[in-house]
Amino acid sequence: MTTSVQIKQEILEAILKNAASLHPREMMLLLRGKTKKDQITITDLIVPPFATHGKGFASFQPHMLPMDFSIVGMVHSHPSGIAKPSLQDLHHSFGRIIMIVAYPYQSDQNVSVFDRSGEKLVLKVT
Ligand SMILES: [Zn+2]
Repeated sequence: MTTSVQIKQEILEAILKNAASLHPREMMLLLRGKTKKDQITITDLIVPPFATHGKGFASFQPHMLPMDFSIVGMVHSHPSGIAKPSLQDLHHSFGRIIMIVAYPYQSDQNVSVFDRSGEKLVLKVT
């Protein structure tokens, strides 16, 4: 069974707003949530410590994070508009899922979720 990811509309909107406000810089947030078998539910957004906006994804240092097993993954924006993870994204992933919000950050149509191997997951907005 493939993993499906659930997110509330209001959290999704917060992500899209955040991405739009930082555009053309890249934004990055941690996703906190609950995992139940193949179902991941995103419950909160966390601003990662030491995140430097605008310097790209590679500047993120996962080892600087506090140990928190409720972190299910990360979301970052692709100002390029391409909603696919780069190799660098997959290598720097943290948690189980990689969420990408692509320009123009309008709706869930601009949001994609992947697992750490780059497999696309189903996103359900509730
Ligand atoms: Zn990326």
